[in-house]
Amino acid sequence: EKNFDYLKDLIRTIPDFPEKGILFRDITTLLKNKKGLKDVIDIFTERYKDKNIDYVLGADARGFIFGAAIAYNIGAGFIPVRKKGKLPYKTISADYTLEYGTNSIEIHEDAIEKESTVVIVDDLLATGGTARAMIDLVDKIGAKIHELAFMIELKDLNGVDKLNGHNVFSILKY
Ligand code: 5GP
Repeated sequence: EKNFDYLKDLIRTIPDFPEKGILFRDITTLLKNKKGLKDVIDIFTERYKDKNIDYVLGADARGFIFGAAIAYNIGAGFIPVRKKGKLPYKTISADYTLEYGTNSIEIHEDAIEKESTVVIVDDLLATGGTARAMIDLVDKIGAKIHELAFMIELKDLNGVDKLNGHNVFSILKY
């Protein structure tokens, strides 16, 4: 396993955002850094090129930033998984639990063919609720999940335990 911890210096930590007690990992400081952005995209690209990935699924909204770049580099298509009410055509949805209440994410019902292989991408894995909902969407369609990819994994929250034993790759762990 390579060590990419130098990238941590490019991530800013904001206490009490969006609410008191949360340590928010702000990735905008990495995104604006020429080397940081390139290195992260290159790491994901190396990992998924030549793996016969048909689609990269990006989670609304920071998953779009990495997802589209990876898809372009590996010659796959990009599919946005969006928060409820944003997609114009017929959708399939999956619910996930937040600290207070639930939320849902959606994908176009014809976005993925059953026979295809996908990689699911987001910037950060916290409790795993969002990623788990993405898995549920792909499972409803019946397509194959090659792996879930995150730039950051917050280990203490044990999000990986919610991901049904799927392969998980995270560049940085906190
Ligand atoms: P989970 O569903 O795993 O609890 O939360 C992960 C989702 O919330 C991801 O879509 C991620 O973008 C967002 N998120 C939660 N905490 C943070 C954080 O500290 N930094 C960033 N950049 N995103 C976060």
